Amino acid sequence: MVNDTTRLLGLDGLAAERVEVDAAGVPVVDLSTGCDQARCCPQCGQRALRVKQWTTTRPQDLPVSGRSVRLRWRKRRWYCPTPACPRKSFTEQVAQVPARSRLTTRLRQAAGAAVADAGRTIVQAAWDHGVSWPVVADVFTAHAKAVLPDEPEPVTVLGIDEVRRGKPHWNWDAQADS
Ligand SMILES: [Zn+2]
Repeated sequence: MVNDTTRLLGLDGLAAERVEVDAAGVPVVDLSTGCDQARCCPQCGQRALRVKQWTTTRPQDLPVSGRSVRLRWRKRRWYCPTPACPRKSFTEQVAQVPARSRLTTRLRQAAGAAVADAGRTIVQAAWDHGVSWPVVADVFTAHAKAVLPDEPEPVTVLGIDEVRRGKPHWNWDAQADS
């Protein structure tokens, strides 16, 4: 069942189990896997039955209601049930926390957009989002690749007509008549 904290957090596929506050006053959210798709092998799609081991991952996320939070997702590593599948085992992943990712997808997007769309420098965006600048440089590159066309538009020859020369002349009478 989906509880209020899970709804507030809004991380699809992850369920909030409990929230504690650490010594520094930062909320620590314990997460569990909340979608069945996460236990299907990413290679062959079969639903796994046997747990190999449990691991804990701590992805960084955006603030919640303006407060930094720490996430702690206890997840499983499964054996793939298909004997012929090259993927012998796999860890659970959801869209917001892909395998091996140290950031949530939404934090990654926010940091990339801050640079690409809001004109932040990489250093500023890294500081604002509490992540290292190489991470922001990476996400900016990915973001830019996603939004820019593969080939830039060819530059047409710039003519002299396109450069304004001299002072603009305002016709006040014409404006008053309209
Ligand atoms: Zn498989």
